[in-house]
Amino acid sequence: MSQVFNFSSGPAMLPAEVLRRAEQELRNWQGLGTSVMEISHRSKEFIQVAQEAEKDFRDLLKIPSNYKVLFCHGGARAQFAAIPMNLLGSQTTADYVDGGYWAHSAINEAKKYCTPNVIEAKTTVDGLRAITPMSSWVLSDNAAYVHYCPNETIDGVAINEEPDFGDKVAVADLSSTILSTPLDIQRYGVIYAGAQKNIGPAGLTLVVVREDLLGKAKKELPSILDYQVLSDNESMFNTPPTFAWYLSGLVFKWLKEQGGVAELDKRNQAKADLLYGTIDKSDFYRNEVATANRSRMNVPFLLADSALDKVFLEESFAAGLHALKGHRVVGGMRASIYNAMPLEGVQALTDFMLDFERRHG
Ligand code: PMP
Repeated sequence: MSQVFNFSSGPAMLPAEVLRRAEQELRNWQGLGTSVMEISHRSKEFIQVAQEAEKDFRDLLKIPSNYKVLFCHGGARAQFAAIPMNLLGSQTTADYVDGGYWAHSAINEAKKYCTPNVIEAKTTVDGLRAITPMSSWVLSDNAAYVHYCPNETIDGVAINEEPDFGDKVAVADLSSTILSTPLDIQRYGVIYAGAQKNIGPAGLTLVVVREDLLGKAKKELPSILDYQVLSDNESMFNTPPTFAWYLSGLVFKWLKEQGGVAELDKRNQAKADLLYGTIDKSDFYRNEVATANRSRMNVPFLLADSALDKVFLEESFAAGLHALKGHRVVGGMRASIYNAMPLEGVQALTDFMLDFERRHG
């Protein structure tokens, strides 16, 4: 089989080395004669996997000891509900920055639990999609926290600033950008991410929460979403998604071997530069996001003639470049180039794009 590069927005590509290792040990893990999927989450073997994964994740993001790391179910959408239910306490509002599709979805969920103060941050710069600078966001005095999404997976729009909201609690949905760039965790009260883009398989959601924010959950909150309960039980209040946890642990080890988040940050910049550079040099392709807000993870682009979209997708697929169809909300194409996508994958894509332009332009 010739090499395939998978540009899916999620579930997304995983590092080839990780898949090979999982394949090798699938049916006889640690010499036990069974797979890791078939053993108890409370066995000493699995506990060791779980603890190592947490340690490696903490090392990669330099997570301070006053933060808990929770391995959860339910995807980022479960967190859209868990966040207000865990953090509101006696308050009835929270600031919600609307920068795109996913931030907006979080607002809709939060409306079930509070009256969000919505800060409209979508704007345009020279007709291109953009986000207003953080310094212009008008926060309310009585908000329990400030929620925003630094990387909008569908819109291809990113907020490339880290929060500085004084004593306000910043909460960030990092589903499509976690581990792609260093973070200053102390600036956040809570960060969370579904695993299926930049971490591992679907089914696992990582939540990092500052300790002092625990214990404020509404009493009607289902226990499985209660950060205090999850923390007290070391994320094993019920059976966790053990295979996803194990595989994510292998990804963390792979990231460390690659040189950690700082090294991935450089590689991600090189990949994004190559792809945006190719788009910008051509009249055949265009990206409609203002330069300062371009996502390095999700790169939407349009063909000058949308009648060619179908043939672009067919030919790119045949060339081993998969899952380039853009989200229906934005149209055109989208290349998701998370940590696991090597530079060669982006090179293969840009080579194909130039060749396609020569033949159809
Ligand atoms: N937030 C962002 C930024 C996302 O990209 C996604 C998934 N595409 C979600 C939230 C929803 O995640 P999940 O499907 O894990 O609930």
